[in-house]
Amino acid sequence: MEEVGFKCERCGAPLEVSPETIIAICPYCGFPNHISGSMETEKVYIVPTLDKNAVAKAFWDRVERDFDLRRMKEKLDIVDIEGHYAPYWVGTVHVEGIVEYTVREEECHTDSKGNTHCHTVERHYRDRVNENLDLIGSARRQVKSLGVEDLIRHYSKTKPRGKKLLELDEDEWGRIKLEILNTEMDEAQAKSIMHEDAIDVIRDRYSSKADRIDRFDVRADEPQNAHLVLLPMWTVYYKFENSIFHVVFAGWDGKDVMATEPMAAWRRAQYLAGTLLGILVGGAGVAYTAGSGWVLPAFSILIGTGISAYFGRLVLEGQRIERSGTFFGMRG
Ligand SMILES: [Zn+2]
Repeated sequence: MEEVGFKCERCGAPLEVSPETIIAICPYCGFPNHISGSMETEKVYIVPTLDKNAVAKAFWDRVERDFDLRRMKEKLDIVDIEGHYAPYWVGTVHVEGIVEYTVREEECHTDSKGNTHCHTVERHYRDRVNENLDLIGSARRQVKSLGVEDLIRHYSKTKPRGKKLLELDEDEWGRIKLEILNTEMDEAQAKSIMHEDAIDVIRDRYSSKADRIDRFDVRADEPQNAHLVLLPMWTVYYKFENSIFHVVFAGWDGKDVMATEPMAAWRRAQYLAGTLLGILVGGAGVAYTAGSGWVLPAFSILIGTGISAYFGRLVLEGQRIERSGTFFGMRG
């Protein structure tokens, strides 16, 4: 899918460009080349990164901190350390409107004889929404690497300062030496997705705290201060026994944002035993119900499914699915 013939405007070096590319940053001099779509290269910021050695150190520090990993330390080997910059759109959207919602709550009274009676009541609320949401989303069509969502979450908590890419001098650029992935979403597209997602951020907030949303009348203004931020992400691949695992680090502060991990054999056995125990307890509960009318069986089914769901989840830990083309709200 690569197109030939694109050269850097500043130094003339050849650029790798695909039909989706909006800006291509020259790997030799760091100049942001505008290829297509709506985009001002003035609005590209870059967040400084740690180097490869610092990332390797962050990896071993993490091993030392972790109870399970520390005991396998001798059997762990770093296979590869990969770092790159990926582009994200950041902007602010003002949202305003009304949300009416219902929450069911348990209300208890104690009567004169000392008996407590409980019943469920519905409480109705009406909120006025009026705030500025900071949003961030990937500027690439496909989110290929795992950990992107986790990196975004960490960015929104730490808000590292970026520098204007156009103001970076050659020395600073020379120290970066990391691949920069091309931007595939232009400003107009990013703004239109931000505009829609701002509403969803508010809707999700109410969906999680309300039992029912009765009225949702929230409007979003045009996104403000939209700019592109290049964020450094490092992945350390390591080997344990015959499998490869990885840890993703945020390049600006070396925080581990996501990891797949070998589970010690004894621990995995423990989780599986937990799952089986849950199924057995649940099964016993069902059998019991058939023969009698006790309250206990129902309780036992509840506990049983709870136990196996909990342990089952631990066994599956590390398997995640990434979404793409979504903007996330940042913490204020
Ligand atoms: Zn160049």
